Formats: sequence, C-alpha cells, structure tokens
Amino acid sequence: MKYPILTNFIGGEAIKADGQYLDIYAPQTGEIISKVPLSTSIELDQAVQAARQAFPGWAALTIKERVQIFYRYRSLLAKHKLELSALVVEENGKTMDEAIAEVDKSIEITEFACSLPQLVAGEVEEVSQDVECRYDRKPVGVIASITPFNFPNMVPHWTLPNAIALGNAMILKPSEQTPLSANRIGELLQEAGLPDGVFNIVHGAQAVVEGICDHPGIDAISFVGSTKVAKTVYRRGSASYKRVLALGGAKNYLIVLPDAHEDMTATNIAVSMSGCCGQRCMAAATMIAVGELDSIINKLCEEARKIIPGQNLGAVISQAAKERIEGYINEAEQQGAKILVDGRGATVAGKENGFYVGPTVIDFVTPEMRIAREEVFGPVLTIIRADSVDEALKIENASVYGNAAGVFTQSGGLAKYVTERVSAGMVGVNIGVPVPREPFSFGGWNESKFGVGDITGKSSIEFWTKLKKTTVKWNPEARTNWMS
Ligand code: NAD
Repeated sequence: MKYPILTNFIGGEAIKADGQYLDIYAPQTGEIISKVPLSTSIELDQAVQAARQAFPGWAALTIKERVQIFYRYRSLLAKHKLELSALVVEENGKTMDEAIAEVDKSIEITEFACSLPQLVAGEVEEVSQDVECRYDRKPVGVIASITPFNFPNMVPHWTLPNAIALGNAMILKPSEQTPLSANRIGELLQEAGLPDGVFNIVHGAQAVVEGICDHPGIDAISFVGSTKVAKTVYRRGSASYKRVLALGGAKNYLIVLPDAHEDMTATNIAVSMSGCCGQRCMAAATMIAVGELDSIINKLCEEARKIIPGQNLGAVISQAAKERIEGYINEAEQQGAKILVDGRGATVAGKENGFYVGPTVIDFVTPEMRIAREEVFGPVLTIIRADSVDEALKIENASVYGNAAGVFTQSGGLAKYVTERVSAGMVGVNIGVPVPREPFSFGGWNESKFGVGDITGKSSIEFWTKLKKTTVKWNPEARTNWMS
C-alpha cells in the first residue's frame, strides 16, 4: 500500500489534513486500500495562498521556459507509465490495457502543451502610420480543476499541462473515490522541476468544491463530472465572477443503418459499450437500429459474450454503482425490454467482494423508458428499433445530453446526412468512441457541457488565457487621427 493515508499537496509539501477521512476501495477486490482526507475551507485556503504566492513568478517566465518543465514531465510520465497505470487499475478497477491507454492520453496532452509556444505567439500590425497594435496572451491566474472518478490520471491532464504551461497556478480537487493518482502526478511534476505552489492538491468532496466556487482567490474553474454537479458548479462559480467550464454527463447514441459493415459495426459497438466497464462519457449507451439488423445484433451479442469480468472487463467503481446499474436493467426488463446478454450478478473467482457487472445488451427498449433517457454508466447497451434515419435522428435529438454520437454506414451521403443532424459535440462515422485526438479539442454540447470552448486542444487556449491588446506609438512625428 503506497499511500495508506493520503496527504494534501500544498506549496510543494505533503501536508496531513486534520478532520475526517474517507475509506478508498479497490473496485476489483472490494478491499480498503487507502484513506482520503475530507478537507475543509482551511486547507483550501492554504492551497489558494500557496498558488497565489507562486503565480507571479511562474507567470513572469516566458512560455518557452515554462514548457521545459513539461518536456521533462512527459519523459517522467513515459518512464513511470506502468506504475501510473497500475495505480489507476488499483483505485478505479479498469483493466491494465485500459489504464495504459489512459496514461498514453495524458502523455499526448502533455506533448500538445509542449507545442503551445508555437501556437500562442502574439500578433502585431501597424494599424495606422507608426502606430502598432499587438496581442499578448496572459494567464488567467489561480485556477482550480475538479475531476471525476472514471479517469483519475487522464482527466486531471485535460487541464493540467495546458493551463500551467500557459502560466496559471493550479489547485486540483480529485474525485474522492479515486484520489491516489493525483498524488503521484504531484510528485512527478515536482521531480520535473515545477516550482512549489504552482500545482497543489486539495482532497475532499462537496465542501471543497463549494469552497472552490466561492473563493475570491480563485479565478477560473474547470469541472468534469455528472451534469447535476456540473450545473451547480457552473452556476455557483459564475455567481462569484469566475470563468467556468463544466463538462457533464452523457448518453451517446450510435445510429446503425442497414448497409453498415457487419463485423466492424458489431465489434466497435461491443468495445464502445464495455470499455472501461461503460464508465466513460464517450461510451455507446444506445444503438438505434434502423430497419432489419438482426444479424448485426446477433454478432454484437456474440462479441459481448467474449467480454469476461475479471479478464478483459474491469470492475465498476463501487457497490452502489453495481446496484444502480443492475437496478436500471431490472426496471427495463419489467417494462418489457428483452435482455439478450445479461451481466447481472457477475462474480470473479477469488475476488468475490469486487464490484462486477458483466456486459449487458437489451433489445426492444423504447425511448420513453428511464434506461433510454438517463445515464447508466455501466457496461450496458440498449437497442432502440427505428423505421427510418429521420426517426433515429429524432430520438437522438430528444436527448438532454450531447457529448458524442455516431453513425455506422458504408454510404458517404447517409453518413453526411446523419453527422450534420445529430446534436452532439463529438461525432463518429464507423467509430464507436469518437474521442478527438490532439490538437483537436474535447467537449460536448447541450447538458454535456456548460461554458464556452472546449477543455483540451487549441480551444482550451482561449479559456486559460486573457487577451491583452496594446497600442503603441513611439514616433513623436506620427500623425494624430480620429482614434488618437
Ligand atoms: P460526480 O459529479 O459525482 O463527481 C465529480 C466531482 O464533483 C468529484 O470531484 C466530486 O467530489 C464532486 N462532487 C460530487 N458531488 C458533488 C456535490 N453534490 N457538490 C459538489 N461537488 C460534488 O461525477 P463522478 O461520478 O465522479 O463521474 C462520473 C460522471 O462524470 C458521469 O456523469 C460522466 O459522464 C461524467 N464525465 C463526463 C466527462 C465529459 O467529458 N463530459 C468525462 C468524464 C466523466
């Protein structure tokens, strides 16, 4: 046990919090592996002071100097990839392959941050005789990032390298369910040479999040989590005049047309619905089957049956999550849906206390059922039958969410018709998990995101910087004009 009791990380030091602690469970075994402090406004305030103190010195460096830290940090992430991935497996319950993919994505984002000096060079133009205007991008200040349980290594990196390389000082509030990775990230940033106080961690739950929203020493917040909390953070953070970007939950629809390639569609959708045990905001939640698609559905079920808990399928985050997911399946069955593959009651030999749900495929779900509308966040695929593309689009468009959507077809024209009309920020054609790769940015629409711009890629530059416009005239002979 590397972290028997977690500490906060403030001003470059591991600091033990007073007060209450919460037990951390390893989802694959159900064992308690650590304790996380439920910090209060006192610890948060210490972190804000440390970040405020570090900010001016860090912001004063050139961006080329700042990214040197991230070149070194990128090497450390690569060097410790297996160790970091094992930590993700331990606290989150996903498989080792999935955890490695998660850390690989953190590396990719860090590489993007190293390219920022090329992207944020200012602009200058002579706007009238001997008068120049220039743009400079300045950091926003002290920023906070609040993250969910499902990607304990990657989601902190959605904010960390870009925001810090652009000159901000940061406070991370990781999920209280998966807080271990954060501390190791802090250690590696320190080893890479990041000055003390530029990156801080305050562990905790609702009280710390509310404190972040209200604290006058914090200038901006990025949040990733459920829509319910995203709305609260967006409203409360904005009420105290902060910039807020809050990514919420998801319900992703994949529209399958009769000409879809059978094997590719079946395997892609099976992987999309079950990867990370369905606990990812890009997972396929619902397949809308347009027309007669029984042979694809049969093949999909065959693929789903090859996904075995404890082998190529991890655990869900908690006993409560397992019960919630199985509750949705029970309700759908009672309402007349047909369970084609049933993952309820899954257990793994030798890990009987783990939180396992097997892959589940449910056919003849109707759009009105709760399982069709709400986020289940487990390895569950519902199938809704539709008679036409327009009916499928109507079902997709009616969702309150809008993170991802996809279409499976071999017709370019039909693919274009669907991608133009789905109401989602990230859209796939013959791809089950259409995550944009750097330099493209990540972010959904509708109730899957509140705020302007996306959280990663080029789009994040706008959020993490303020634009300064300077107009300069040095030549005393320069003419005055109507603007002077
Ligand atoms: P969550 O909303 O429960 O928790 C997210 C963060 O908010 C955590 O740090 C938690 O401590 C805090 N929090 C929880 N309840 C709170 C409350 N009442 N008041 C203030 N803060 C609170 O989310 P989760 O269960 O950790 O993660 C799963 C959710 O995250 C899913 O809905 C998933 O779709 C979403 N998610 C979205 C994206 C995206 O890109 N849109 C990415 C990953 C996860």
